[in-house]
Amino acid sequence: MKSEQNRAPSPDQPQASKTLTVVEPPASRPAAAPVRPGRELPSSVLTPPVPPPPPHLDDYESIIGAAQVEALRFLAADVKGKTVKMVNSTAVGGGVAEMLNRLVPLLSELEVPTHWEVITGGNDFFEVTKAFHNALHGTEYELTKNAQEIFLMYNEQNLQRMQFEEEVVVIHDPQPAALIRAKARSKAKWVWRCHIDLSNPNPSVWEFLRPCIEKYDAAIFSSQSFARQLPIPQYLFYPCIDPLSEKNKELDDSVIQKVCDEFGIDRSRPIVTQVSRFDRLKDPVGVIEAYKLAKKYVDCQLVLAGGGAKDDPEGSVVLQEVKEAAGNDPDIIILDLPPWCALEINAIQRASALVVQKSLREGFGLTVTEALWKGKPTIAGAVGGIPNQIIHKLTGVLVHSVEGCAFQIRYLLTHPEFARRIGMNGREQVKENFLMTTNVKRWLLLFRILSGSKPSPIPT
Ligand code: UDP
Repeated sequence: MKSEQNRAPSPDQPQASKTLTVVEPPASRPAAAPVRPGRELPSSVLTPPVPPPPPHLDDYESIIGAAQVEALRFLAADVKGKTVKMVNSTAVGGGVAEMLNRLVPLLSELEVPTHWEVITGGNDFFEVTKAFHNALHGTEYELTKNAQEIFLMYNEQNLQRMQFEEEVVVIHDPQPAALIRAKARSKAKWVWRCHIDLSNPNPSVWEFLRPCIEKYDAAIFSSQSFARQLPIPQYLFYPCIDPLSEKNKELDDSVIQKVCDEFGIDRSRPIVTQVSRFDRLKDPVGVIEAYKLAKKYVDCQLVLAGGGAKDDPEGSVVLQEVKEAAGNDPDIIILDLPPWCALEINAIQRASALVVQKSLREGFGLTVTEALWKGKPTIAGAVGGIPNQIIHKLTGVLVHSVEGCAFQIRYLLTHPEFARRIGMNGREQVKENFLMTTNVKRWLLLFRILSGSKPSPIPT
């Protein structure tokens, strides 16, 4: 008979915590562990690698098929030559920069010349916009006059510096939203592309931003539930990943092994990984708690790989909290990676037995998409856009608590066939809905709508 320690409960059991909380905590907790120093990064990742040339449209044929590539060319024909500017607040780190990196060259290759500009701001600006970001995700926040002035002042500075001569201007997220004040002096159609979860925003911040948003010609959200009452057309665009990027391309096993060796990750034992910025809304401390609960039943290592996005001043504080929560457990590997470590993240995700994304709030959760694309059984918080990607127990598993997460870590590590199956389904889900090529198609359709262009006749 299996011991209680090894018996995995049924996945249909309604409340995971019941299974896990029966374990008594150790009689006496060890004294608080000294905060560990950060794990040293291997010298190979200290400087940015030379970026590989961006892929061309034809390179996607092997993944989506020639007919789909041809469909993109067909859709682009009607908006050929239309100029587009994309504006966001960071060139590196975070999902938006990741997407723009690929979208911009692909649209340009389709003869829709697209430029990408990043707004600038001081620490005071990024502190305010980070607070806005959290508040729009629903956290408590008192909007002061000073914060409003800082936000508007930096937007004004950027607006003075920038030109808006393109035919379509796309502003990503709230940070540069007040650039809409330049609309009067431009002939462009203005689009606000919101990547964050606006389903339950802090009212004062949303009411402050709303007059700006209402001036746009259209708004795009990443999920049906993020849409707001607005007097402008709203569109649903799922975010996407690029299957040919350093982050997502296929890797030889020797590359995966080399990366694990460099970071001191033991591939002979199960690896559970969460990749994300050190941000409380990603709940890295909750992941550590879940790992510690699961570890009472199954052997595994936990890798928390992340970095502070440039526009996130809270990052180092949260990293410190994570180190404190990890204590001196040698099986918890915390990697504070520079933003150019895409290949390393790819290798760590591929080396993992499970990927976790235990977010408490989320825009879409590109790290989930990345994990699913790699066929990894994925456990993720049922928030934001994650349920659009994970159909519970079919393409991954959704969790609502530390205990639920711990239960699923334990269950998936002890049911490899079920884990393999949901991993494979997850990959199909991404192929159908969340690849860069589908995103390019959506942009082309939107540009056609905005320009009122009549569709070309379908060739016979
Ligand atoms: N990412 C990264 N390095 C890190 C942390 C995250 O390259 O240290 C990447 C991650 O692989 C993903 C993106 O940043 O592509 C994060 O996007 P997501 O939608 O998951 O979260 P966001 O950071 O935008 O809230």
